[in-house]
Amino acid sequence: ERIYFQAGPTTLPKEVMNRAKSEWDDFKETGLNIMEHSHRGTTYEEIHEQAKTLMRKLLDIPQTHDVLFLQGGASLQFAMLPMNLLSPGKTAKYVLTGSWSEKAFKEAAKIGPSEAVVSGKDTKYRTLPEMNYEPSDQDAYLHITSNNTIFGTQWPDLDAFSHPNLVADMSSDIMSKPFNVSNYALIYAGAQKNLGPAGVTAVIIRKDLLKENESLPSILSYQVHAKNRSLYNTPPVYSIYLLNLVLQWIEEQGGVKELEVKNKKKAEIIYNAIDSSDGFYKGYATPESRSHMNITFTLSDPELEKRFIKESEESGIFGLKGHRSVGGFRASIYNAVPEKSCQKLAEFMLHFQGKYGK
Ligand code: PLP
Repeated sequence: ERIYFQAGPTTLPKEVMNRAKSEWDDFKETGLNIMEHSHRGTTYEEIHEQAKTLMRKLLDIPQTHDVLFLQGGASLQFAMLPMNLLSPGKTAKYVLTGSWSEKAFKEAAKIGPSEAVVSGKDTKYRTLPEMNYEPSDQDAYLHITSNNTIFGTQWPDLDAFSHPNLVADMSSDIMSKPFNVSNYALIYAGAQKNLGPAGVTAVIIRKDLLKENESLPSILSYQVHAKNRSLYNTPPVYSIYLLNLVLQWIEEQGGVKELEVKNKKKAEIIYNAIDSSDGFYKGYATPESRSHMNITFTLSDPELEKRFIKESEESGIFGLKGHRSVGGFRASIYNAVPEKSCQKLAEFMLHFQGKYGK
């Protein structure tokens, strides 16, 4: 049996894949796959609304906020966010904690006044910076990245930030733990880590931010999508169908509270393998900034890197190669990765060290 630790797209829960398979050529006795149904028909609309309702339930999203299903990935949100929320006289503020927040900031700077107010760049993004920023009346919003997929750092407490218009890219840790949605003006997440397959992007937006803007192309307007219940144009029907199945699976797991416990345990298994290796393995992120979703590490002897990848694959373990900007290894342990996969990786790490360590 092969196990996978890729950063995304990544594995979906087995139960979800089996359900999708069982409904493949005959969804609810219609004789069609769900992707062959009209997005204006009741068969699909039921799924569309169910996914929204479940997302609300699982994250306890208050009525003050809307849930949108968009396309274009989190990368389109980098641009859509300032296009919609940046108004004359205001500045978009960014907290830089890695490559994705840098990208988000660069895109905003193309749209209007933008400023990086806190940055962890001087630590090569190994450590999360101190959040000593005081909100100003001039801020359009303050943007954070909750989990830094590439460097393997994660803000430990999503309720700790205080800003009237707090925005978060939660692409790589949404649904991994509970947090207070009402603390946020806007949250966005590409689906392909914890929510489902690529193709759909979830946006949770406070309703007072939904303003008509005649100069904005309709497809880029949050207000247009909200008014049309995310059916302004053809939605990614199959991706939303799978998102709905993943949300049902999360509910069956006991919700995000239960997943937080599981994720913490999974992460501990691998961090323990790193920390108890006498320096054979080195964690990339400093311990207080460590992510429970992406575990980044290197070998004290870089000469062994190729061998580590080769032998891990021979043991049935795939997807460990680190991002090219960090090097080393990255084990992504999103919600769908079971604890036994983490144990298997830890065992392999110990075995590899026994073979090549001093
Ligand atoms: N933001 C974060 C935190 C990510 O991890 C990623 C992708 O890995 C992105 C944004 C970009 O997402 P997309 O490829 O959906 O545009």
